Amino acid sequence: MTLLQVEQLSKSFGGVQAVQGVSLALQAGEMLALIGPNGAGKSTTFNMVGGQLVPDRGRVLLRGQDIAGLAPRAIWRRGVGRTFQIAQTFASFSVVENVQLALLSHDRHTFRWWPRAAAHRRGDALALLEQVGMVAQADRPCSELAYGDVKRVELALALAHDPQLLLMDEPTAGMAPGERVALMQLTRDLARARQMGVLFTEHSMEVVFGLADRVAVLVRGQLLAEGTPQAIRDDARVQQAYLGT
Ligand code: ADP
Ligand code: MG
Repeated sequence: MTLLQVEQLSKSFGGVQAVQGVSLALQAGEMLALIGPNGAGKSTTFNMVGGQLVPDRGRVLLRGQDIAGLAPRAIWRRGVGRTFQIAQTFASFSVVENVQLALLSHDRHTFRWWPRAAAHRRGDALALLEQVGMVAQADRPCSELAYGDVKRVELALALAHDPQLLLMDEPTAGMAPGERVALMQLTRDLARARQMGVLFTEHSMEVVFGLADRVAVLVRGQLLAEGTPQAIRDDARVQQAYLGT
C-alpha cells in the first residue's frame, strides 16, 4: 500500500492561496523532493502533512488512513516524524542524553522512572548514534558540536520514534555544500534500510537531482510536474518556471 498519498490538498491564508489542489504519492523506502521557488507552498504542504496546519480541502492518507486535521502529536504517534530547520536539541545535555530523552518521550510509561529508564536506554541510543555516524561524540554536550553534527543528532532524534514517514523541511539549510550531500546520502541509505519514506525540501540541486528518487515541483501553490529526477530536469515547463535555464 502507498505510504503517503496526498490528494487535492489546499490551504489559503486570507487572500493568499498558498497550496492549491496538490496531490503527491510516496512509497516506503523512497525519497521524494518537493522543490519550488520561495513562497511556492512547500512548508505549508509539510505543515498540513505533519498536522501543524489544518487543510481547507483534501486528504492526507497514511497507509490509506486519513490523518488530515489530526493534532501533530496524534500524527507523530502514527509514525510521522519530522526534523526542523532550527536546532531542537538540548544544548547542555550530551548527544547520547538527547537521544535517550527522545527514546523515553516515545515510551511515555517509563518517563517517570527516568534514572533507571535512562540507563536502560543508553544502549539503544548508542545504536542510533552509530547509524548516523555520531557514536564517537556521544558524551559531548550538544553545545560543543559543529553545525553539521547537530543535524546528524537531529536525524537520530527523529529516528528514535522509528517513523514510517520522515518530513524534512530544508534539512540542510546553513550547511556547507559537501556536508549537505553527506547528510542527505546518509538519510537516503537509512530510508532504504528502514523502508522509511522521506519527504524533503532542498535548495541544493546537486542533492535533489543526485539523491531523490522522485521530484515534485511546486509553483505558486500548484504542482507543476512530478517524476524522476531525469524527467524533471528535462521538463521544459520546469526549466522555464524554476530552473531558469
Ligand atoms: P515555501 O515553503 O515554498 O517557501 P510557504 O508554504 O512558506 O512557501 O508559503 C506559501 C505562501 O503562503 C507564501 O505566499 C507565504 O507568504 C504564505 N504563508 C505561509 N504561511 C503563512 C501564514 N501563516 N500566514 C499567512 N500567509 C502565509
Ligand atoms: Mg519553506
